[in-house]
Amino acid sequence: MARIVQKFGGTSVADVERIKKVAQRVKCEVDCGSEVAVVVSAMAGATNQLIAWTRETSLLHDAREYDVVISAGEQVTAGLLALALQDLGIDARSWQIPIATDGVHGKARIESIDAAEFRRRLAQGQVGVVAGFQGIGPRGRITTLGRGGSDTSAVALAAALEADRCDIFTDVDGVYTTDPRIVAKARKLDRITYEEMLEMASQGAKVLQTRSVEMAMNHRVRVQVLSSFSDTPGTLVVDEDEIVEKRVVSGIAYSRDEAKITVQGVPDRPGVAAAIFGPLADDAINVDMIVQSASEDGRTADLTFTVARADLDRAVSVLEKGRKGIGFAALKPDPNVVKVSVIGIGMRSHAGVAKQMFQTLADKGINIQVISTSEIKVSVLIAAEYTELALRALHTAYGLDAAG
Ligand code: ADP
Ligand code: ASP
Ligand code: MG
Repeated sequence: MARIVQKFGGTSVADVERIKKVAQRVKCEVDCGSEVAVVVSAMAGATNQLIAWTRETSLLHDAREYDVVISAGEQVTAGLLALALQDLGIDARSWQIPIATDGVHGKARIESIDAAEFRRRLAQGQVGVVAGFQGIGPRGRITTLGRGGSDTSAVALAAALEADRCDIFTDVDGVYTTDPRIVAKARKLDRITYEEMLEMASQGAKVLQTRSVEMAMNHRVRVQVLSSFSDTPGTLVVDEDEIVEKRVVSGIAYSRDEAKITVQGVPDRPGVAAAIFGPLADDAINVDMIVQSASEDGRTADLTFTVARADLDRAVSVLEKGRKGIGFAALKPDPNVVKVSVIGIGMRSHAGVAKQMFQTLADKGINIQVISTSEIKVSVLIAAEYTELALRALHTAYGLDAAG
């Protein structure tokens, strides 16, 4: 008998009608004889509304209370889905499964799941509905797992249950070569490797939360991404040796969550990079891409780097505070940038991927501001206004466009 975890995202449970449709889908799996655990997101828009209310109430809110509020959306869906399933004659209940996390409110990591009792119930034929996106921290308070965190709840539960499959139902019918909402010619992938999916997610493809892919990769959970609105087969996330069609570039991701800072006129001597990046790290601000260029006088340099857009103001104030010690001439923050990344495990054995990227962007007159690379990706930072143009041009250049 198969044991399956099904996860339904926000648009799939956007209203009561859709929740009833989801219940039908769960029933199908139950009727097939599977043991089924379901993880649900909040109804579309609910989490944003809860966040807005929290901000409205208190701008500098207590992170623990923030988590109490924003975890509530998933509770509602879990209860409603259990009711809808019961109405179809299924033995279903929402379940407060003990998911232990660390204490980092708003971005907690799952540490362990005690699934013994839950598993026993599943074996008896009961369907368990679990509220995604949350857990319990070390002090017994509710924590949340970061935006998109229900994906991670589902994969973690699948790992704890040693499930045969974890189906992630969403509003697109799989993982595409790039965001199908931006590039109409994006192509659905039948399979993608864990590594490529991890890179796609961490470079901005929001179809799966990065941590869910990490978790799937570490525990070898078979993840399938598919649509809750159609019956077409989805995309399987698999090991490299299960990929038949080898591609050099598998996908293109973009992230609008970046911001650029240029520190101009930095003295060109040992210790300056440490003086700039040390205080940022101490303030828990992650720096992603970095480039240093010599300035005109030859004695100073300009240092350009990116941080998360949400951290931009904080980063600027940290640097301004250290201005005297560092001794730079000016700070130029720029939130109007986007990071575009081409990803593929084939890059390990093929040269020329970066060159093709730079040439394609040059042909469109798009200036590259910062570059970074890793074994299976090349990322460039460009002005945000060129996002669509760059994605479409690169998609065509790497031969990813769908036929027809
Ligand atoms: P859910 O609410 O079901 O979790 P999300 O909005 O988090 O859904 O994720 C699905 C969305 O991810 C799609 O609507 C699509 O716009 C976006 N997306 C970005 N990149 C990709 C990609 N490469 N393939 C598929 N979807 C993508
Ligand atoms: N509801 C949460 C969010 O909107 C978690 C999720 O949907 O995965 O981010
Ligand atoms: Mg999501």
